[in-house]
Amino acid sequence: MKQDFKLGIPEYFNFAKDVLDQWTDKEKAGKKPSNPAFWWINRNGEEMRWSFEELGSLSRKFANILSEACSLQRGDRVILILPRVPEWWLANVACLRTGTVLIPGTTQLTQKDILYRLQSSKANCIITNDVLAPAVDAVASKCENLHSKLIVSENSREGWGNLKELMKVFLCHPGWSTVARSWLTATSTSLVQAILSLLSSWDYRHASDSHTCVKTKHNEIMAIFLTSGTSGYPKMTAHTHSSFGLGLSVNGRFWLDLTPSDVMWNTSDTGWAKSAWSSVFSPWIQGACVFTHHLPRFEPTSILQTLSKYPITVFCSAPTVYRMLVQNDITSYKFKSLKHCVSAGEPITPDVTEKWRNKTGLDIYEGYGQTETVLICGNFKGMKIKPGSMGKPSPAFDVKIVDVNGNVLPPGQEGDIGIQVLPNRPFGLFTHYVDNPSKTASTLRGNFYITGDRGYMDKDGYFWFVARADDVILSSGYRIGPFEVENALNEHPSVAESAVVSSPDPIRGEVVKAFVVLNPDYKSHDQEQLIKEIQEHVKKTTAPYKYPRKVEFIQELPKTISGKTKRNELRKKEWKTI
Ligand code: ATP
Ligand code: MG
Repeated sequence: MKQDFKLGIPEYFNFAKDVLDQWTDKEKAGKKPSNPAFWWINRNGEEMRWSFEELGSLSRKFANILSEACSLQRGDRVILILPRVPEWWLANVACLRTGTVLIPGTTQLTQKDILYRLQSSKANCIITNDVLAPAVDAVASKCENLHSKLIVSENSREGWGNLKELMKVFLCHPGWSTVARSWLTATSTSLVQAILSLLSSWDYRHASDSHTCVKTKHNEIMAIFLTSGTSGYPKMTAHTHSSFGLGLSVNGRFWLDLTPSDVMWNTSDTGWAKSAWSSVFSPWIQGACVFTHHLPRFEPTSILQTLSKYPITVFCSAPTVYRMLVQNDITSYKFKSLKHCVSAGEPITPDVTEKWRNKTGLDIYEGYGQTETVLICGNFKGMKIKPGSMGKPSPAFDVKIVDVNGNVLPPGQEGDIGIQVLPNRPFGLFTHYVDNPSKTASTLRGNFYITGDRGYMDKDGYFWFVARADDVILSSGYRIGPFEVENALNEHPSVAESAVVSSPDPIRGEVVKAFVVLNPDYKSHDQEQLIKEIQEHVKKTTAPYKYPRKVEFIQELPKTISGKTKRNELRKKEWKTI
């Protein structure tokens, strides 16, 4: 499996041309099931389905807009901040076709966040909607590289190209690009409005498309993804065309177990690399259908209803989502088509996987990876799942546990999770942190890229996550990973969620402190008594030295936008109060 995956990389590679357009050909030749390539729904019952051919046609039109109306050159950078609307997928493919560098951002960004991203990425173009356009306008004058703005909206906005209108213009005739360009620079929009209203009566689907995909080198930068910012400011990770375009085939084939008959739904926000992983590259590499529900907010019942109403076969979500789903009465829903469930982004605790299995009959196949990588470890279909383990290394990488000197540690010993990068850096790995050579260099040790996560491998070759290196607690000479303590805490009936960090202690240096969100039924219980009960429970469930000497009840845990627990915030709070 490993050797097959590591066969030579072509000199030129472009996912749009070499993968998507190939599926179009297969589709036309009737050599693929009749599944759509893309299937979008929203809460109002609206629905949109595109074949690979339609996806190709529409994305080529979008590509023309980027090159002509927005005057973007290959290598220019495009920030894309949109919710789960179809245009988000078109923008992804249009950037591939034009060789422009995509930088996705979440719609939850504030004006300050947008300024940080525009300035630090030196973006030339931004694509967003009505909600965020005012924030962009408020900071645009401070962003010298930004020269074009596209809005996805029913309404026009001064200084912005309107994507929906431009699509009609470009779809009518490539020559209309001149009109489109004038739209962007128009001081008076009334003339353009008049032209566009005339054009809007034309059926754009009948129009021709014409765009030649650029010939990108496999090692040319394709996209910049920002990390989740769990341990500080998000880092900008640069990925080449082969990195995700080819590398994510391990996710699609082995972890997600996708075929062209599958319908895959991944719930992650459009701002994260996880969306590129599971809502773009992995399913489309396999010719599967990308399903999406434009849910503005997380609603467990909508997720459960969608899984039962639509023929979704593969479901991917974050551990926090599964945790909330199992708190509902799932048994009344029937997931007729669902056959494979996966989770990644954080450890998923065995209590959640067990509840999900009891209620649905399906296992959750945990995967482990980073914005910097494709799948590092995973539980693959057909493999025995060891609850709590991240599974085995993906065929993309040589994954090892290494010590402080970069030596490989034997099974059973805890160390840093590393990916071998010498003599050859694998292509499913980012190339560098943008404009941060020292940070990039700090990830290398000996022959390895150091993930920043601690773990160990058991004698069967399964990997076990211990903690982010920063989260490890050193108490009286013991090294304690928060994950195991949180697992034990979460098994107590009073605990809805927990986070464990170090807290200063005059004798032990640090002790384990647990922040606990209580289940509603327990909020009125005697708190001192409950703390003792919880501590006793942990002592019995895991090695007693790990029990939390301090316990604090809180209303909610601090989380990143993507729902990960920010232990560093809790830790900072602890250490400031010394
Ligand atoms: P930042 O790098 O900005 O602090 P982040 O590391 O959370 O944020 P991501 O790249 O989104 O940003 O997340 C990757 C990290 O998520 C991994 O390094 C690991 O700590 C954690 N992670 C991902 N999957 C798993 C998993 N299955 N089990 C445990 N941890 C996981
Ligand atoms: Mg990280």
